Amino acid sequence: MNERIISTSVLVIGTGGAGLRAAIELRQQGVDVLAVGKRRKHDAHTTLAAGGINAALGTMDPADSWQQHAADTIKESYDLADPRIVSIMTENAPEGIRELEAWGMPFAREADGRISQRFFGAHTYRRTCFAGDYTGLQIQRTLLRRAAALDVPVIDTVYISRLLVAENQIFGAYGFDVVDGSRVLIHADAVILATGGHTRIWRQTTSRRDENTGDTFRLAALAGARIRDAELVQFHPSGIMEPADAAGTLISEAARGEGGILRNALGERFMSRYDPERLELSTRDRVALAISTEISEGRGTPKGGVLLDLTHLPREVILNRLPRVYRNMLDLQMLDITKDPIEIAPTAHYSMGGVWVRPEDHGTDVAGLYAIGEASSGTHGANRLGGNSLAELLVYGRIVGAAAASYSRGLKAQIRSSQAINAASEEIDTLLAGRGFDNVRSMQRAIRDLMSEHAGVIRSEEGLIQGLSKLDAVEARLPDLAVHPDIAGFDDLAHALDLMGSLIAARATLESALARRETRGAHNRSDYPELDPELKVNMVWSLTGGLTAEPVAPTPPEITTLMSMTEESVVGKLVE
Ligand code: FAD
Repeated sequence: MNERIISTSVLVIGTGGAGLRAAIELRQQGVDVLAVGKRRKHDAHTTLAAGGINAALGTMDPADSWQQHAADTIKESYDLADPRIVSIMTENAPEGIRELEAWGMPFAREADGRISQRFFGAHTYRRTCFAGDYTGLQIQRTLLRRAAALDVPVIDTVYISRLLVAENQIFGAYGFDVVDGSRVLIHADAVILATGGHTRIWRQTTSRRDENTGDTFRLAALAGARIRDAELVQFHPSGIMEPADAAGTLISEAARGEGGILRNALGERFMSRYDPERLELSTRDRVALAISTEISEGRGTPKGGVLLDLTHLPREVILNRLPRVYRNMLDLQMLDITKDPIEIAPTAHYSMGGVWVRPEDHGTDVAGLYAIGEASSGTHGANRLGGNSLAELLVYGRIVGAAAASYSRGLKAQIRSSQAINAASEEIDTLLAGRGFDNVRSMQRAIRDLMSEHAGVIRSEEGLIQGLSKLDAVEARLPDLAVHPDIAGFDDLAHALDLMGSLIAARATLESALARRETRGAHNRSDYPELDPELKVNMVWSLTGGLTAEPVAPTPPEITTLMSMTEESVVGKLVE
């Protein structure tokens, strides 16, 4: 067996925005760093982010402040965000923007040169900076340029299958090269997990291909870290339903912002029943719930969706204001949206839960292990404000980079365990030796089906229990798994590990959703339709300890005051 052994001070797993920002910080601090990712760095999930990134710069609305940004974020989180994390993010977000600007990020600007800022839903002021509707792509490019200028080593063909831990202290990670299958053993003092979320375990998802398969949950949980808020998943109201390999692809909220109308199969403009004042411009969680209710009560289309109708809008408006939607629908479905409505359904969009982290440095329960970006938790609670995830990954990328640098410098001895290394190596040997007949793709499909049916926008005790029992049945198929690397590479092995990540992520989500017996933000329980003030807690899940409810830290009075002043009327300016 061909095995590469690499040593570095800090290993960053993930080459999306979060991982790159952390790696840049480490390099700037003169620390030895290596960043690895399982798919091409130019095409990480971050590139999909469209609408923008938030920071209280006050370029358009000088009255804005980081405290108001924090107040909006905590309010919209239905009080489940950690106020300490939110405050650190909002206070430092302007610095994150200035750094990006210095590194050449082409932000949209006003005629006088100020960075433009626009409204996003539920923000009190215009505070979302953007680069057309390619903000994520431009951020990724900017960070990659900066990383290249600093000579940050990046290997974007390495799949990490296990974190290496001895006596609750991290000492590296194990994996393989997806192209040639060679094994990779990486020794590191500290490891930063920037491996994204778990939204690919639903059938309808804005996530693409083989990302967001739940690797974060598996890697962290097997290492001994805990997962917080697994049940809190943001469903975007509008994802397309066909073709199957593009199911869930986002139709931007701008389509509703420009005047798109939602109709059920009976032709009724149903939002008038759910939010008569704001109609289609209601908040993301409410529109997603309304659509799901129409579908579950039998007023959906035969394919199980509703219709987003733009046909009454002037053709020029569609071509000029929604060019990406127009082009995508022609490409994907040969559908001319100026003539025909789009069939849509809610789509899993963002993991608000993730690895439990300390507010000050995003360290975890395992010494030397950190988590950032969509892999982490605590920023968004039960409902994420559009534009906050890019802000979080920039701010905490810098903080975590600095924390890991200082941890590595202060580490007296790296404890290693050959047992942990052997177990990681044997896991891959066993998968490759499998002579079964079951197919990874069909098992992934089974997970997506059960999560969509039982843990989608609307959940219930009965459904979640059924989901868990179906999950047991999928898990029981694992020993019969067939893994066949071929001339094209080791994708099949990667998919098998993706599947194992999805199994753990699905279990954490179903069990946490079962325990949250209330309706709050994106989590709707048909059997508990009200918010329960007693459940202002975070559900914290671990592989060995099951679930515990952890109280949310108090919100500082200066922020609470601003929360009560937030005007409802600003809600409804949509973009992402
Ligand atoms: P990712 O970009 O997902 O990167 C994860 C990295 O981990 C990748 O490099 C991957 O290869 C690697 N990885 C995963 N598992 C492994 C493994 N086992 N081994 C090795 N590497 C691994 N947010 C906003 O703030 N504003 C927006 O306008 C916005 N628009 C969005 C639009 C869409 C369509 C979508 C889908 C999301 C949007 N978001 C937006 C959310 C935002 O894009 C993401 O939350 C953010 O980019 C996540 O970045 P990340 O670095 O944490 O993870």
